Amino acid sequence: MHKAMLLVMDGLGDRPIKDLGWLTPLEAARTPNLDTLATRGVCGVMNAIGLGLRPGSDTSHLAILGYDIDQYYTGRGTIEVAGLGMELEEGDVAFRGNLGTVDENLVVTDRRAGRISDTGPFVQELNGLHYQGITMLAQPGTGHRVGVILRGPGLSSLISDNDPHEVGVKVHAALPLEDSKKAAFTAHVLNHFLTEAHRLLKNNPLNVERLKQGKPAANYLLARGAGYYKKIEPFEKRYGLRACAIAGGGLYKGLGAFTGMDVFKVSGATGLPDTDIAAKFKAALHALQGTYDFAFVHVKATDTYGEDGDYRGKLAFIERIDAAAGLLLDAPFLLAVTADHSTPCALKRHSGDPVPLMMIGEGLVRTDHITTFGERSCARGGLGRLTGLQVMPEIINLLGLSRLIGD
Ligand code: ZN
Repeated sequence: MHKAMLLVMDGLGDRPIKDLGWLTPLEAARTPNLDTLATRGVCGVMNAIGLGLRPGSDTSHLAILGYDIDQYYTGRGTIEVAGLGMELEEGDVAFRGNLGTVDENLVVTDRRAGRISDTGPFVQELNGLHYQGITMLAQPGTGHRVGVILRGPGLSSLISDNDPHEVGVKVHAALPLEDSKKAAFTAHVLNHFLTEAHRLLKNNPLNVERLKQGKPAANYLLARGAGYYKKIEPFEKRYGLRACAIAGGGLYKGLGAFTGMDVFKVSGATGLPDTDIAAKFKAALHALQGTYDFAFVHVKATDTYGEDGDYRGKLAFIERIDAAAGLLLDAPFLLAVTADHSTPCALKRHSGDPVPLMMIGEGLVRTDHITTFGERSCARGGLGRLTGLQVMPEIINLLGLSRLIGD
């Protein structure tokens, strides 16, 4: 059966922690199911974008899914808006947006407008604004989030964020990041739209209502992460595998949509620590028993705990993943399990440390002597050390689908 599931546990890799007896959270966690899989499979370690390089979650996933970031990555905005179901066209420049609150001096007082939950009526006012041949498209995301696309000729993604990323600071004007007409034009157009958006939002009757209720007005569009959209070869065309993406977090749904996968809505998949991991695995099993050939499954909270420096939380969450991984023990397809990058609790941020990787498939993989799924145990495994871009070719090879090079 030419089918595979790729499970990515975000930010799983870590460094030894004194309180855990100099073990990592993954090494210290009780993980009988993952260890059984390691015993049945072949293990290795992986650096998503290269040795010692600190990947973002967007770049690392693109590489793991087989897309060279030098060619395909121009910024996070395009991936995020794809995740909202917005259709991108070649030449679009897309942003991640927030509806935030500014005072009369344009100083940000709340980047999320009191964590506003329904931005629909506000975003409606911004969708379709037009200026100098460019149209702004806007669509609500979850909570305070908004997807923004600029569409029209002559745009560049080489412009800075207007979002100052902190409160108590005046919103920035978007600035060109290179000396080019396109970048200067794009910054000019975006700044115009943001001024216009502020005028419209400020005067929206719903904001008058919000102020009466003591809530901060959703009166400013903060934009960041400009990305330029170039057509990307869909995953199915690239590998001949009909693929689905199962994730809670917007970025990861976006990665699925961006690479042309079908993005599943799985009830209980939140991208948060409370996510229903078993529901995700069941959805993947169901898809692979049906017409799908490839399932990309993403679990986020390992990274969230790492960024909080909460190694006990990370360890406990890993044990929850392991409990659900019982569902995968007898899966009749190739299973690849890895992470996109390390997020060591001691650093509270992504690092360039390699992550563990294992591939399981009876009769497909050359099993090695590794019997536990951990950063150091996997480093001694039969897969050795791979880069992210080598993961998909190896999966394709193990499935028996790789093309003969030469004669
Ligand atoms: Zn990540």
